[in-house]
Amino acid sequence: MTDPRREPIAAQKASSVANVLQARAASSSPSLSFEFFPPKDDAGLDRLWSAFDRLLEVNPDFVSVTYGAGGSNREKSFAIVERMAPKVLTIGHLTAVGATRESTREIIQRYRSAGVNSILALRGDSPKDQPDALERGELKTALELVTLARDEFDCEVGVAAFPEVHPESPSLEHDANVLRLKQDAGATFAMTQLFFTVEAYQRLVQTNQAHGVTMPIIPGLMPIANAKNVIRMAELSGAAIPQSLLARLESTDDETEARRIGMEYSIQLGNDLLSSGAPGLHIFSLNHDAAALELSRGVGLAS
Ligand code: FAD
Repeated sequence: MTDPRREPIAAQKASSVANVLQARAASSSPSLSFEFFPPKDDAGLDRLWSAFDRLLEVNPDFVSVTYGAGGSNREKSFAIVERMAPKVLTIGHLTAVGATRESTREIIQRYRSAGVNSILALRGDSPKDQPDALERGELKTALELVTLARDEFDCEVGVAAFPEVHPESPSLEHDANVLRLKQDAGATFAMTQLFFTVEAYQRLVQTNQAHGVTMPIIPGLMPIANAKNVIRMAELSGAAIPQSLLARLESTDDETEARRIGMEYSIQLGNDLLSSGAPGLHIFSLNHDAAALELSRGVGLAS
C-alpha cells in the first residue's frame, strides 16, 4: 500500500534531484531520500544491502553514498553506487581533500560510467592521521569542485549547508556567501549537516534567501535511535544538542526508553521541518533500516 501523500515519481521525472524536487513541489508532496556510507567490513556490507533493500520498498526519490575524505574507502563507494544506481537515483559524494584536478576528473568519470550523474561536491576534512592532507592537495574548497564538475562535465551538482554554521566559519552570513558562490558556479541543490531544531533550519533558509540563494536546501535528519552515537556525531559535526533533549536522553539508563525519547524527538522535528516548508527529508540511515523507516513513517512519507 502506498501512502496517500506520496506516490512514486514517474521514471522520466526522476532523472535528477532537481527534477525530483520540482515534481514533488508540483504535487505538494515532500521528497524522501536516504544516505548510506561505505562500511568497514563484510558484515557491515551485508547490513548495508539488507537496509538498502528494505528502504527501497518505501520508494525513496533518491539515495546518496558518502565518500571518504582523502579517497579512503573510494573503491567501496564506487562498488556501492554501481549496485544502487540501476535501482534508484543515486548521488555520489565527492571530496576535495587530497585531490588533484586529474584525480577528480577520473572519479567523476567513474561515477558517470556507473550511471551516477548527480554528485554532492564537498571539501571533506583532513583525516586525523594526515592533518595536512588539505594543504597538500591541489583542490582546497568545495567551490573548486563545483566549478570543475560543472565546467567540464554535464552533471548535476549539490553542495553542503550548515544550519549550525560550519565549524571553521565566522557566521551563517559567511556560509551563505559561500553557498551563493557555489550556486553561481552551477550547484542546484544543497543538503544540510545534522542539526536538532527547526529554528536552526529556518534561520539557515532565511539567511541564504537574503543572500540570493534560491536553490532548494534539503534538511539532513538523523534518527536518534542510539543516543550515544548521535551525541558523538553531533560533537564531531559541531551541532549542539538542545540541553532539554540531552537531559531527557541522559535521564534514563534504559536503552529502549532512550531510543523512544530520541525517535519521538526526531519524528517531531521531521514534522516541524515539513510544516515549515522543507522540500523533503534526507535521512541519515547509518546503513540501518529500522530507525530510518520508523522516521519516514512517523512523518507520513512512508506507509
Ligand atoms: P567548503 O565549502 O570548502 O567550506 C569549508 C570552509 O571554508 C567553510 O568554513 C567555508 O565557509 C569556507 N569557505 C569555502 N569556500 C570559501 C570561499 N570561497 N571564501 C571564503 N570562505 C570559504 N565529508 C566527507 O569526507 N565525505 C562525505 O561524503 C561527506 N558528506 C557530507 C554530506 C553532507 C550533507 C554534509 C553537510 C557534509 C558532508 N561531509 C562529508 C562533511 C564535509 O566535507 C565537511 O563538513 C567539511 O568541513 C566542509 O565541507 P564543505 O563542502 O562545506 O566545504
